[in-house]
Amino acid sequence: MERVDLVAMMDGRSVRDLISAWPVLRQRDGDRGALGRAARSEHSRTLRPRTDQPDRVVRSICPYCAVGCGQRVYVQEGRITQIEGDPDSPISRGRLCPKGAASRGYVTSPLREYSVKYRRPYGTEWEELPLDQAMDMIADRVIATRAESWEDKDSEGRTLRRSMGVSNLGGATLDNEENYTIKKLMTALGFVQVENQARI
Ligand code: SF4
Repeated sequence: MERVDLVAMMDGRSVRDLISAWPVLRQRDGDRGALGRAARSEHSRTLRPRTDQPDRVVRSICPYCAVGCGQRVYVQEGRITQIEGDPDSPISRGRLCPKGAASRGYVTSPLREYSVKYRRPYGTEWEELPLDQAMDMIADRVIATRAESWEDKDSEGRTLRRSMGVSNLGGATLDNEENYTIKKLMTALGFVQVENQARI
């Protein structure tokens, strides 16, 4: 039978060193679950969590859905380094779902859009528009649709003074004050179909 040479060198390390570094053997030293020292490498030993030494921690609310989980936003040198669940939140008690846990990407992702994208009717490509121009285009369409769809009275002569041509569907990023303002605006314009996904 071939003899195993325990002093043979592999990548500059002896076979004995390699075997003793084997995680299964390291588990014998009081880390049977391999949750601590046994699973640690030289690389992982020097890693630091992104929540280490922030300049400040800002409390916020996850903007993704109506649950409204509490967040702690870690900031270092003016940049968001990590977002964690807020244990003090009575809503979520420190938990975030995968969407909320990944919400740092809303701010820091290289895919984040900073300009208005517009695709013309029958167009096949997106165009970039200045925000002012896009807002004017929306206002023009709202005014035109309201004029075309305005109903003063119903078929029996009862007063309506409304338009069913425009609806508003809000999202979870809207807070109470924004929803209040949107409702006031829609009602003032005579649009009666208003919904939102209110946050708690
Ligand atoms: S963490 Fe998930 S469940 Fe909580 S508000 Fe965000 S998206 Fe909703």
